[in-house]
Amino acid sequence: MALMFPCPQCGSRPFTEFWCGGELPDGGHGAAGDIEADYARVWLKRNVCGDQPERWFHHAGCRRWISLTRHTVTNLIHDVV
Ligand SMILES: [Zn+2]
Repeated sequence: MALMFPCPQCGSRPFTEFWCGGELPDGGHGAAGDIEADYARVWLKRNVCGDQPERWFHHAGCRRWISLTRHTVTNLIHDVV
């Protein structure tokens, strides 16, 4: 069975309808214009083994971004916004 994402606008949809926008930063990345903080936010991913906050774009549906928390091992999804 395909991995299903719960879109707040469209309901449960297959993951192939979404593009991954990557990990959400965990906050505390310094002031605007801080080059090292910007570099870390864009390029240094945590790639955790466990719950990871992510952004996904529903390109084949409502064309909106959603935020969710996905377990990187089991693909269980919760905290969808
Ligand atoms: Zn949608």
